[in-house]
Amino acid sequence: MTFTPHGNHLIGGAWISSHDQFQSAPTHGEAHRFSVGTVDLVDQAVDLAEAAFGTFSSSSRQSRADLLIAIAEEIDLRGDDITAIGSAETGLPEARLQGERGRTTGQLRLFAQHIVDGDYLDRRHDEALPDRQPIPRPELYMLQRPIGPVAVFGASNFPLAFSVSGGDTAAALAAGCPVVVKGHSAHPGTSEIVAEAIHAAINRCDVDPGIFSLIQGGRRDVGTALVQHPLIKAVGFTGSLAGGRALFDLCAARPEPIPFFGELGSVNPMFLLPNALAERASDIAKGWAASLTMGAGQFCTNPGLAIVVAGTDADAFCDAATQALREVGPQAMLTDGIASAYRGGAQAVANAKNVDELVRTEADPRYASPNLFSTTAKEFLANDVLGEEVFGPLGLVVHVSGIAEMLTCARHLQGQLTCTLHMSKADSSIASDLMPILERKAGRILANGFPTGVEVSDTMVHGGPYPASTNFGATSVGTLSIRRFLRPVCYQNIPSDILPEDLTA
Ligand code: NAP
Repeated sequence: MTFTPHGNHLIGGAWISSHDQFQSAPTHGEAHRFSVGTVDLVDQAVDLAEAAFGTFSSSSRQSRADLLIAIAEEIDLRGDDITAIGSAETGLPEARLQGERGRTTGQLRLFAQHIVDGDYLDRRHDEALPDRQPIPRPELYMLQRPIGPVAVFGASNFPLAFSVSGGDTAAALAAGCPVVVKGHSAHPGTSEIVAEAIHAAINRCDVDPGIFSLIQGGRRDVGTALVQHPLIKAVGFTGSLAGGRALFDLCAARPEPIPFFGELGSVNPMFLLPNALAERASDIAKGWAASLTMGAGQFCTNPGLAIVVAGTDADAFCDAATQALREVGPQAMLTDGIASAYRGGAQAVANAKNVDELVRTEADPRYASPNLFSTTAKEFLANDVLGEEVFGPLGLVVHVSGIAEMLTCARHLQGQLTCTLHMSKADSSIASDLMPILERKAGRILANGFPTGVEVSDTMVHGGPYPASTNFGATSVGTLSIRRFLRPVCYQNIPSDILPEDLTA
C-alpha cells in the first residue's frame, strides 16, 4: 500500500487538522491517527456549502455530470490504495471492495447520464388561457429544484457505496446540492482517500470547493450539530435503528423541520411456499446460507427470516441450512462494537421462549460465525424480539401451521426493505394472496432469488415503511434517489428571461 493517511478533515477545499485525535482500529495492518470532528468545523463546512449553493444549484447539468464522471475517474486512479486501506480498516475481503468500488463509480456515472437526460426534472407546462371563463388561466411551469446543503452520514457497512462518495453524495451532487459528509470512524482512512479523489475532481472541473466537505468522526456532537444546523436542508443516513431514530427526532424537532432519509433495520423475510419447498428445499437452503453469511451478514438486505409450513419438507430445509451454515467459518466484522452487538442479538434470540438452536457458534471478539434458530408462528407473533434485525449471519426459521398462519405472520411484519417469495408455478394462488400484504410491507418484492445484491438502476427501490426507512416514499439506491434532494417549484407568469435554464435546456 502506498497511501498513508494524513488524518485531516477536508473543509471546503482545505485540509484542516483539529487538536483532538483518535486512532483507527484496522483488522490488520497499521493503525493511523485522525483529527476528531468538532462543532466548529460543522459550522465552517455548512457555511461554505451554503455560499457555494447559489452557483452550484444553477450550474448546467452537463457541468455537474462532468464533475461526477471526474470523481469516478479519480476514484479509479486510486483503486488499489482504496482497496488496501478499505480492506484493512473494515476486514472486508479485497474482492468485495473492488466490486463495491465498481458499484460506486458506476452509480456516479449513472447519475451523470441521468441528469444529462433531464427526465428527473419532471418539467410541466400549463399554457396561459387568457380567454377562459369565468377566470383566465395564468401561464404555469413546474420544475424540480435542488433544496440546499445536504448532510450525509457515512455507513459502516459500505465504506465506498454508502459512504463519502456513495449513493447519497452522488444523488445530492447530481441534484445540485452541496454535501457535508460526517465520516464513519470505522473507516477514516478510506474516507480520506475518497475525499482526496473528490477534491481532485473539484479542482479539475473548476467547481467551487465549498460544495464538498468531509468531517471525520470521533464525537457524537458532530452528528447532532450537523442535523441541527439551520442551513442543512436534508440528511442521508444508513445505520442503526437507535442512531437513525435519534437523528430523525432531532430533525423533526428543529424550528424548521427537515427530511431525514434514514435507512435503518430490516429482517428481509423469505416466504417458502409449499410446492417450491417440496421441489427444492435443499437448494433454497444452500442459497440462503450463502446469502446470509456473505460479508459476515453485514448487509441491510440480509435475509434473516425464513417462514415455512411445518412438515417434512420444512425439516429437510432446516437440515440442509444447518449443514451449509456449519461449513462457514468465522469472518471479521466491521468493528468490535458491531461484533459485540451481534453476539448480544444472538443471545437475545437464544434466550427467547420456545426457540430451538440449530446452529450455535462463538467466535473471537472482532469475528462472527453463523447462528441458526427455529421457532413456531405462535412464538414469533407473541415476541417482538424475534422480528428485530440482528446485524450479522443469523437466521431464524418460523414454522407456520398452514397458509392462513403464513398470511398472519406476513401481516404482523414491520416495514421491510425486501420480502422474498420462493415459489413454483403451482404456488401462484398463495403468492397472489401474499402480494397485496407484502406490497404494504416492503420497498422491493422478489421471487426465487435472494435480496443481497442490490441493482443500481432506474427501477430500484431501496427503502420501505418504517423502520426499514424513515421515509417510505423514497429510495437510497438508484436514480429515483435524486428526488430526495429536490423540491417542486411552480412558476406563475414569470417572464421567460428569468425562468431557470433547466425549463428549456
Ligand atoms: P450507528 O451506530 O447508527 O452509527 C451511524 C452513524 O450515526 C455514525 O456516524 C454515528 O456516529 C452516528 N450516530 C449514531 N447515533 C447517533 C446519535 N444518537 N447522535 C448523533 N450521531 C449518532 O451505526 P453503525 O456504527 O454503522 O453500526 C451500529 C449498528 O447499526 C450495527 O450493529 C447494526 O445493528 C446497525 N447497522 C445497520 C445497518 C443497516 O443497513 N440496516 C447498517 C449499518 C449498521 P458515531 O460514530 O460518532 O457514533
